[in-house]
Amino acid sequence: MPTDFQEVAAECQTCQAKVMRCKHNYFSDEEKEIHTWEHRCKDCGFRETGGFRSDEPEDWPTEDPTHCPFCGRPAG
Ligand SMILES: [Zn+2]
Ligand SMILES: [Zn+2]
Repeated sequence: MPTDFQEVAAECQTCQAKVMRCKHNYFSDEEKEIHTWEHRCKDCGFRETGGFRSDEPEDWPTEDPTHCPFCGRPAG
């Protein structure tokens, strides 16, 4: 499973730090694709996560699961 990880300019909701670690994971098999995204604050450890499943796409808040729902960056 490829993991991709970048530091992005985003504000922490808890301590107002200006940099978050943005992590994307991707998984697929014959039936489904899963994208998971995580923002984590390296100062206070606050985390927010989102996950897309192609078998339950209505749970996903944005149009494109290959872009982070928190900062909008593309995967990869
Ligand atoms: Zn923080
Ligand atoms: Zn992000």
